[in-house]
Amino acid sequence: MYLELKDIKKSFGTGENRTQVLKGISCGIEKGKICVLLGPSGSGKSTLLNIIGGIEKADGGSISIDGELMESMNEKKLSLYRRKHLGYVFQSYNLIPNLTVRENIEVGAYLSSNPLPIDDMIKTLGLWEHQNKTPNQLSGGQQQRTAIGRAIIKNPGILLCDEPTGALDYNTSKEILKLIEDVNKKYGNTVILVTHNDAIKNMADYVIKLKDGQIRKTDINENKIPAM
Ligand code: ADP
Ligand code: ADP
Repeated sequence: MYLELKDIKKSFGTGENRTQVLKGISCGIEKGKICVLLGPSGSGKSTLLNIIGGIEKADGGSISIDGELMESMNEKKLSLYRRKHLGYVFQSYNLIPNLTVRENIEVGAYLSSNPLPIDDMIKTLGLWEHQNKTPNQLSGGQQQRTAIGRAIIKNPGILLCDEPTGALDYNTSKEILKLIEDVNKKYGNTVILVTHNDAIKNMADYVIKLKDGQIRKTDINENKIPAM
C-alpha cells in the first residue's frame, strides 16, 4: 500500500503544558518501500507511527492510504484497516506466554481471510526447529522473530515497526533488520521502521529525520547506498 501524509499536526497537553509534537509533517511513501524514521528521543516518532496506525488521531492534516483518506473512514472501516492491512512490531515482543511459537504466529492469522502459508513463513523466520517452544524457552531474537511472524502472517499492506531491535544486542539486531528486509522483499509489504540503529540506513529506501516536530531531512537511497 502507498501512503501520503499531508501537514500532519499533533499536540499533547493543555494550556501552558501544551506542546506541539508534530508541526506539519508531509511525505509520501511508495508501495513496497522501506522507510526509516530517525530522530532523537521525544521527537515524535512513535506518535507519527501511531497516527499512521490509526491508534492515535492527528489534530490536523491528512493521511491517505492507497488514495483513501483516513479521516473519511468511519470507526468500523478504520478497525478493518488496522486488522487487515496493518502489522505492528514493537520493542517488547508481547507474545502470549502459554502459546507456542507456531500458535503465537497463528494468532496473527486468526482474523485474516487470506493468511500466508504458515510453514513457509516459519521457515523464512528461521524458527522451524523452535516452533513448538513457548516464549520463555526462546532468546530475545527468536521472540522478536515470532512477533514479526505474527505481524506479517496476514500479509499486511503496511508493516509498522517501533524500535524492533531496542532490546537486542548488536548482532541479533542486525539479524532482525535483515529479516525485516527479507520479509519486505519476499512479501512486498510497505515498511515503516523507527530505530536508533545506524546500520539501518543501508536497507532503507527512504530515511526521514524528525527534529523539533518537523522533517529535517529526507534521503532516498536509490541503490541502498548509505546516504551519509
Ligand atoms: P519518540 O518516539 O520520538 O521518542 P514520542 O512520539 O514517543 O517520541 O513522544 C514525543 C513527545 O510527545 C514526547 O515529549 C512525549 O512525552 C509526548 N507524548 C507522546 N505521547 C503522549 C501522550 N499520549 N500524552 C502526552 N504526551 C505524549
Ligand atoms: P520511545 O521514546 O521509545 O518512543 P516513549 O516511552 O517515549 O518511548 O513512548 C512510548 C509510548 O508511550 C508512546 O507511543 C506514547 O504514546 C506514550 N507516551 C509517551 N510519553 C507519554 C506521556 N507523557 N504521557 C502519556 N503517554 C506517553
